[in-house]
Amino acid sequence: MPVAIAPVSDISVYVHIPFCRSRCSYCDFYFEVGAGSALISRALDRVLEEAAWFAERLEGPRIRTIYIGGGTPSLIPAPELERFLEGLRDRLGLSAPVREWTIEANPESVSEEFLAAAAGAGVNRLSLGIQTFHNDLLRRLGRRANADAIDAALETIATAWKGRLTVDLMTGIPGETPDELDGDLARLSLLRPGHVSLYSLTVEPGTPLARAIDRGRLTPLSEEEQDRSWIEARDLLVSSGYRWYEVSNFALAGEESVHNPVYWRSEPYLGLGPGAVGTVPVRTAPDGASPRGSGAHGGRIVAARLTNPDLATYLAGSASEATRDVEHLDDRTLLFEHFMLGLRTARGVTMDRLAQVFGLDAPAVERLLARCPALRKRIDRGALAEGRVALDDEGRLRVNGVLVALAEVLDTFELAGPVLWPARTDGSDRRR
Ligand code: SF4
Repeated sequence: MPVAIAPVSDISVYVHIPFCRSRCSYCDFYFEVGAGSALISRALDRVLEEAAWFAERLEGPRIRTIYIGGGTPSLIPAPELERFLEGLRDRLGLSAPVREWTIEANPESVSEEFLAAAAGAGVNRLSLGIQTFHNDLLRRLGRRANADAIDAALETIATAWKGRLTVDLMTGIPGETPDELDGDLARLSLLRPGHVSLYSLTVEPGTPLARAIDRGRLTPLSEEEQDRSWIEARDLLVSSGYRWYEVSNFALAGEESVHNPVYWRSEPYLGLGPGAVGTVPVRTAPDGASPRGSGAHGGRIVAARLTNPDLATYLAGSASEATRDVEHLDDRTLLFEHFMLGLRTARGVTMDRLAQVFGLDAPAVERLLARCPALRKRIDRGALAEGRVALDDEGRLRVNGVLVALAEVLDTFELAGPVLWPARTDGSDRRR
């Protein structure tokens, strides 16, 4: 579907590299297994075309952050990665260093050449998918790396990578013993990366892991055991100096992600590559009647969620061709997403942004809280006094229950007028 993309002054970029060497048993992301170098190269060329197409329509915005995820970006051969990243710099008009440019890597494909190619183009943050240091658990997850490969990758990173490092760790893996969890946490303490993403394993329907459990070949941990493992890991991270700043994310001082808060604050970002999702401002047809949010050329600026198709369809089209799915986010959806993502963070959502984007002033927020006891009960009163709606620690642990209750209230909650998106009013990104 064609969209009239509205220019923005700055934006973040997510690039999806949907290639993996094999399938992890728990994974339900979009990825392709078995692609050869020619196919990967074609896909990267298409991503560059797409980047140029967007940059032109957005009228050359400043690129705030870039995140290259997957899939497994580290399986791109180093010379090809170098060509691609330089191409991206060119198409996005990057003249200055990008404040935060992250690339994901899996241990088995980390090499000095890969790290040098990334750093040479300006990538300054590496996200390493470790999950666990134990071979039996790695096998159960279907991970390609074994414990030796993880050790080798960490050694390579220690000598050849000067940028920031974040690692993914998983708890609640079927069959995980308390000793194994303690072992993982001890290794993490020794490594002491600046940033940790800590996930409790979710068994997604339709995955090989779900089938193995259904057939009785694996026994999942009980909900209580899963909660206990994750909370033990969280407590260890917090007691060793990490700040729990989002439900799954922990950082040493100054090491918080700059890119992810773009999602959490419902700010615009481009999604490039097969299967990528982005949210950008688009102009609706002129209606001449919007008191808030009217664009200079008539019509209204609204948020559109753009979802790219799978690899085959992506390659069959051209960058300008409308193969992507377009969903205009209505005001209620945008407001719910703002709470849904913002309440996962320690910062919460700011009253400034609620007022200026959603037209919710302090009395309106009070009315909302009064109608939603589940939210009011878990509100961090100190944050509220500082002009933020945030959950206390217990609330963040139980955030999904709070959000279910909030969704019901928002169904019938009247907004004062149409939202003004993507106005960025609290300056939080500039202060960071
Ligand atoms: S490497 Fe990542 S994207 Fe690929 S299958 Fe494993 S978890 Fe999924």
